[in-house]
Amino acid sequence: MNVPDLINSVPTGLWLNGRATPSESGRTFDVINPATGEVLASVANATPADATAALDAASAVADEWAATAPRVRAEILRAAFEAVTARADDFALLMTLEMGKILPESRGEVAYGAEFLRWFSEEAVRIGGRTATAPAGTGEIAVVKEPVGPCLAITPWNFPLAMGTRKIGPALAAGCSVIVKPAEDTPLTMLLLAQIFADVGLPPGVLSVLPTLDAPTVVGGLMADPRLRKVSFTGSTGVGKILLAQAANNVLRTSMELGGSAPFVVFDDADLDKAVDGAMLAKMRNGGEACTAANRILVQNGIREAFTTKLTERVAAMRVGPGWDAESAIGPIINAKQRGSIAALVDEAVAAGATVRTGGKPVDGAGFFYEPTVIDGLPDDARIRRDEIFGPVAAIVGFDTEEQGVAMANDTEYGLAAYFFTENVGRAQRVARRLQAGMVGVNRGVISDPAAPFGGIKQSGLGSEGGSEGIEEYLNTKYIALPPV
Ligand code: NAD
Repeated sequence: MNVPDLINSVPTGLWLNGRATPSESGRTFDVINPATGEVLASVANATPADATAALDAASAVADEWAATAPRVRAEILRAAFEAVTARADDFALLMTLEMGKILPESRGEVAYGAEFLRWFSEEAVRIGGRTATAPAGTGEIAVVKEPVGPCLAITPWNFPLAMGTRKIGPALAAGCSVIVKPAEDTPLTMLLLAQIFADVGLPPGVLSVLPTLDAPTVVGGLMADPRLRKVSFTGSTGVGKILLAQAANNVLRTSMELGGSAPFVVFDDADLDKAVDGAMLAKMRNGGEACTAANRILVQNGIREAFTTKLTERVAAMRVGPGWDAESAIGPIINAKQRGSIAALVDEAVAAGATVRTGGKPVDGAGFFYEPTVIDGLPDDARIRRDEIFGPVAAIVGFDTEEQGVAMANDTEYGLAAYFFTENVGRAQRVARRLQAGMVGVNRGVISDPAAPFGGIKQSGLGSEGGSEGIEEYLNTKYIALPPV
């Protein structure tokens, strides 16, 4: 599909009761193409009253959807997987247009994001329970799983499809209705997905989508409503803490996928080429705008210069440009504000004595591009060694011993992903256990897999998404005490 036809095929209303609907306020907001700075589309801007309407719908259908046969729920999810896959090119182009990532990465996200629908279609029919005889023989213990009830899913802009399907898939599989609040920068992908769910027969009201420029008020109203039973959030740790505090009032179930500061540790017994390939993926994939992105590249001093030289050559060769251009290896940053915060981190480090090996500046002209960058020689107290960079900047720091490398890797309040490279099996086992992270990649630069539990520890979050663990986040455990047989 060409771009105007594609944009015209995307619903631009709120998704309420199975169809696109204007906001009760009549207000809209613009979605910007970050590669050009131009307006791509205008979408309805939800108000708290719209959110109440979505929760009315989600509550009205909750019992019926929970009672729908698991096989029926599974088949709707499977049909949605097939339909998204059939329109993979459209979803990929749409994400490239609204978020900026290069088309091959958008195609990768369509495959990854759609897979959550297939995976959870398979999990929907395997929700179990257990029975046991009480040890004293005084009764029978039956344990059953029940859907938690209406859920709110709040997603970030960096993976516009996958961050939605990773929540919608298990919620629907478990029998929950769900309201999605997509990121304001990238609402179009979620609206197209909602249309697809309606096309494959998801009953109206089970899934709503509420784009809004006023997330705190719209979300705050929903969180205060006792009919909402769960919030699943992916985004920054700061916003996650606000939501956790709000969730306390009604004691909501919460899943929190928050920020990260992944260490990427290269030991001097690593395969250098594998480590450089891994660093390119862990750092530059998605333009560095990933919660799992290598934020701190820690390299044992014996191979630091060799590693840095090779990585610098690869990064310097990356062509920056619009994501739809086949020559581009890296697209724009999501918006001017985000680009400004990346630039500030680099500029501060350089002012304090760090060395830019390549890149280091915003790109002049239209759009929000930033040069792929390698810096080293970072002072101990540089902010770039603590804060999430969320951009194409590889910040390299040396260390001497394994002990020191592990201690530096763990020296953060975050605990989402960690990567390390070594050819020594004993070290691999030891370090994998000692790294404080919810996910550890050994000699790998990409770890996400819909069949594996994704989640963080420390201030990176609570709970897991994906894998056989993911559906548990949407299920309550109920114990039924039965008389002895
Ligand atoms: P963000 O926290 O600014 O926004 C995330 C979502 O929360 C958006 O939909 C936004 O509109 C909404 N929001 C913002 N303020 C809110 C409030 N007061 N109340 C309710 N909702 C609010 O994050 P972002 O900039 O969109 O995404 C980047 C962040 O997300 C990074 O920190 C990244 O590490 C994290 N992230 C984490 C994961 C993970 O799985 N752990 C995955 C992707 C991104």
